[in-house]
Amino acid sequence: MAVLDRLMAASRISCPACNSDALQPLYADSQARVNLCGTCTLMSVAYVDGPPAPERVFTREHFQRNYLGTRETQAIPLWNEILDALERIVPARGNLVDVGCGVGTFLLQARRRGWDGRGVDISPDAVALACDRGLPVETGRLAELAWPAGGTGVLTFFESLAYERDLYGTLETAHRLLRAGGVLAVKAHWLTPRSVRLLHLVSRALGRRPYARAMMHLSTSGVRWVFTPESMTMLLRRCGFAVRHVRRLPPLPPTPGRRLSWLVRRATGAGSAFIVYAVREGRPVRS
Ligand SMILES: [Zn+2]
Repeated sequence: MAVLDRLMAASRISCPACNSDALQPLYADSQARVNLCGTCTLMSVAYVDGPPAPERVFTREHFQRNYLGTRETQAIPLWNEILDALERIVPARGNLVDVGCGVGTFLLQARRRGWDGRGVDISPDAVALACDRGLPVETGRLAELAWPAGGTGVLTFFESLAYERDLYGTLETAHRLLRAGGVLAVKAHWLTPRSVRLLHLVSRALGRRPYARAMMHLSTSGVRWVFTPESMTMLLRRCGFAVRHVRRLPPLPPTPGRRLSWLVRRATGAGSAFIVYAVREGRPVRS
């Protein structure tokens, strides 16, 4: 099958956030195609040969380099800000599940502050590292775990929702696991369609065609969804959640040796992230 046909077949879906089939191509290269939903701005990524296998991306070395040591200490103010926000919404600290918890940097801080935190991650390496630190963490995806319906007070997804193939199904499971009035906190990279187009133009001008994809975390990590606060709000509403609060997070400082990428991200507006706090209200809507 020709590359374009395979891309089209891989991307023939309706939008999980608003159910529209008004998907338009933002850009494509030999490995992936990024589509934009013209109705809600959710962007989806179709990989010609499928996304990279998570166990090859999320390795022990990946977590040790990016999440432990000084990186873990640097993240504590952000975790405290998120826990402060959660504690303003829920009546009391209770049980909390971090989905895609990695080595448990957030869980560790949540437990220090009195939350009954546990986690789940698709990476066996991450789970082994988290268990070595005494954290209650399981391997798998949320939908695969036999946890009781309505038994969870808070669910968090920090960047992890972008990797889920079945976005709607994952949030449907989250809705089922949360008790009525339970809280969902979702953190995601914030890339607008304009940022994606600019990244693509910069990448072509630099003569480094996979560059834009790499900066959007698409080529190496297997991201499937790219969100804006608008598309995230529509998605959560459709899945039975009422959004209470959206906060833009400050851009990250440059990583040593990657200053050009950092500058391009800042110039194109692709360096931000946001967090949404939503309450379980109502029911998921399929149509
Ligand atoms: Zn949409």
